[in-house]
Amino acid sequence: MALEDLNYQVYGCKKCRLWQSAKHGVPGEGPINAKVMLIGQNPGADEDETGRPFVGRSGKFLTKTLAEFGIKREDLYITNIVKHVSPQNRKPLDDEVAACLPYLTTQISIIKPKIIVLLGKSAINTLRLEGIEYFEVVHPSAALRFEKMRKKFMEQISELAKRIQNET
Ligand code: URA
Repeated sequence: MALEDLNYQVYGCKKCRLWQSAKHGVPGEGPINAKVMLIGQNPGADEDETGRPFVGRSGKFLTKTLAEFGIKREDLYITNIVKHVSPQNRKPLDDEVAACLPYLTTQISIIKPKIIVLLGKSAINTLRLEGIEYFEVVHPSAALRFEKMRKKFMEQISELAKRIQNET
C-alpha cells in the first residue's frame, strides 16, 4: 500500500468512536525513507485542528529539543499510536489502540525505519517488531510539566542523537 492511500484511510476512518469528536485524522508526516520513526500517543487539539502530528506546545518543545541536539524534525517520520484526538484529551482506550494498530504496522512496513522512538507510556506499551531498534523516551508533555522528567528527556534525546550520528 502507498503511504497516501493509508493517509486517506485514516482521514475517513470510523473503526472506533474517536472520529465522532475529531475534526481531522492525523496519520503522520515525514519522508517515506526516514531511518527514524517517532511515535507519540495521539493528537491533541492543535494536531486535530491542523491534521499534523506534534505541532502544539509539546510538539514545539520536541522539535526545538531535537534541533538542539542536531536532529532535524524533517528527517523523521512522526506519527502516533492513535490517529484521532480523544474527547477532553483523555488517554486512548484499549479498544481504540487495537483498532488503530494496523495503521501503525502498515506505516512501519512501508517506511522500514531502523530506529523507532517511543514517546511516553502509551507508545512504550506498543508491540515490538524484530529487526528494529527501539528507544524509549519520556513524553515531551511530561518533560514540559516536570523538571525531573525534562532532565531525563534531554538525556534520552542526547543519547538518540549520538545513535543517529553513528547510523549515518
Ligand atoms: N501528543 C502526542 O502524543 N502526539 C501528538 O501528535 C501531539 C501531542
